[in-house]
Amino acid sequence: MADDLPLAGRGCIVTGGSRGIGAAVVRLALAQGADVVFGYHSEEERARALADELRSAHPDQHCVPLRVQVADTTQAEGFATTALDRLGRLDVLVNNAGVTRDAVFARMGPQQWHDVIATNLDSMYTITKPLLMPLVKQRSGAIINISSSSGLHGIPGQTAYSAAKAGVIGFTKALAKEIGARGVTVNAVAPGLIDTDMTAAIPQDKAEFLKSLIPGQAFGSPEDVAHLVCFLASDRARYITGQAIEVSGGLVV
Ligand code: NDP
Repeated sequence: MADDLPLAGRGCIVTGGSRGIGAAVVRLALAQGADVVFGYHSEEERARALADELRSAHPDQHCVPLRVQVADTTQAEGFATTALDRLGRLDVLVNNAGVTRDAVFARMGPQQWHDVIATNLDSMYTITKPLLMPLVKQRSGAIINISSSSGLHGIPGQTAYSAAKAGVIGFTKALAKEIGARGVTVNAVAPGLIDTDMTAAIPQDKAEFLKSLIPGQAFGSPEDVAHLVCFLASDRARYITGQAIEVSGGLVV
């Protein structure tokens, strides 16, 4: 493993890779030597543009975008099969795709609840299930699940999202214990407030208030999260498993 290319030769699958945190993970994994297949849902043009750019920058590596609705078991299976086929080997799975549908619980409709649970939590099952045996049989690999500070601490207006992201942490800890003996690590990364389309939807006055709660008074960048994800994906983190690590600039300390 070259020091500057800790993911050289690794096959890496990232969901929600078309923008935001997922796109930063795709970009950094390629820069660290990985072959990457990434999922997108609605942003086909953005996904293709990112893949074209990264293939030009890394002509000897794979960078393949595939459409998938992560909440759909059949689509997830098709995505997994094709991704494995394109990569030839799987070493790293990053379950990153997610959505918010914020509303105070008294006003939350069933569709909002369902969308959030299906995309953020059901996807842990739909995407990880078909990819587990290849990792277990190989007896090496890393699964990194993107949770949230909301799942660790609870945030008003985000009951569904907090529940889903807390579920991601429970899933992570249980699976880490199930497959630790097979040489596969499973960790959760819990971002706080990160500059992406997701937080761009927060009204300006609320965003300013939230920034005032962060010691550094600023949202993080997608790269701040991607660095931890790629570290957890590498052999350098081989003795770290079952953890939920927050990247929040000290939002809650
Ligand atoms: P963005 O909204 O910027 O991007 C979301 C990504 O998920 C896109 O690639 C999108 O695809 C994909 N996606 C959304 N729904 C689906 C679906 N049903 N099936 C497949 N793919 C889907 O989000 P962020 O980058 O901000 O967030 C990434 C992860 O980090 C999420 O899990 C989020 O909950 C979590 N997080 C984010 C925080 C933040 O402050 N930004 C804080 C804490 C956690 P497409 O572009 O094609 O629509």
